[in-house]
Amino acid sequence: MNQHSRFNLPLCLVVEEDIFTRTDEAVKQYLPEIEGKKSLVITEKFLHDLYGDIVSEIQSDYNNAEVFEVVHADFDEAVRIAKKICIDDIKVVIGFGGGRVLDVAKYASYVSKAVYICLPTNLSNDSLASPFAVLGTENGNRKTLACKIPTAILVDTTMIQKAPQIQTLGGIGDTIGKYTAVYDWSLAAKAEGKPVDDFAYSIAWMCYDSIAHFDEKNVNSISFLRTLARALVMGGLAMEIAGSSRPCSGSEHLFCHALEEYYPDIKISHGLAVALGTVGAANFQGRDDMKMLEVCRSYGLDLNPESYGIDKELFAQIWMRAASTRPDRVTILNNTELNREWLDEIYERMANN
Ligand SMILES: [Zn+2]
Repeated sequence: MNQHSRFNLPLCLVVEEDIFTRTDEAVKQYLPEIEGKKSLVITEKFLHDLYGDIVSEIQSDYNNAEVFEVVHADFDEAVRIAKKICIDDIKVVIGFGGGRVLDVAKYASYVSKAVYICLPTNLSNDSLASPFAVLGTENGNRKTLACKIPTAILVDTTMIQKAPQIQTLGGIGDTIGKYTAVYDWSLAAKAEGKPVDDFAYSIAWMCYDSIAHFDEKNVNSISFLRTLARALVMGGLAMEIAGSSRPCSGSEHLFCHALEEYYPDIKISHGLAVALGTVGAANFQGRDDMKMLEVCRSYGLDLNPESYGIDKELFAQIWMRAASTRPDRVTILNNTELNREWLDEIYERMANN
């Protein structure tokens, strides 16, 4: 072990068809000590109803685990679950769901020091393996909280094929965003006089490359879903190694944050908002923004802002406010004098692509 590194990696990562019918076989080789320990499955009602058979199977595989259905997916609920885990002597938490459920499960298991097994039901963004949880706090606000990456991650490609395709497209968007995120990270490191972590940097680039240059552009094929699952998990590991979200989050994410925080009426997933932000970010960085448009189009990911209810005026406003969402973050926006004409031009290119 390198004496200078201080990061955790998951003990196991399995990406396989129908793995959710036998997660215990995969996990217990790595974690034999969880045999017979009290366990809790964290999911939500909708998924419990939809995948009742799989949830029952998971319950019986983990010592007749109790099921908790998340309702609010906020900080208070995560802490309430953590309290229950501690009081009931639960040692294993199994998160079964999408981003909201998994963030609650991740944070609750972190606070209660339980083993956390992550079973995503879609591939909509890279938070499934990141060392952060985004939870609702007060008055509709959300906060990114540092926690631990999962102990084990199992991705069932058969399950992902059943998820709405728009969620998979979100995962592609979050991965494409690394193209501009690593560039902004380098800028920030230079400004702060610190080196970037070379391994986290390389991993993030490889995530981007694996999706941007994948030959078969069929978002429902098993081979593509395997690649996307690994790219999202590796993105989480890049954050863990870097000790921050910087390898995966630059100005394209500031666009997404501005959209989420200032314009909550625009309903768009995290990954799609990131993909929209990547075009402007690449343009400000003086890089090839047409490439972003081409890659997204090749997967059927629509980057016309109009399709999401964002007109020219709103698009400009979102970019103008983007830097204010995380004022302590150095990105290309610190060196960019945005003006309406420039933003309109980018909008036109996205709308007419
Ligand atoms: Zn993201």
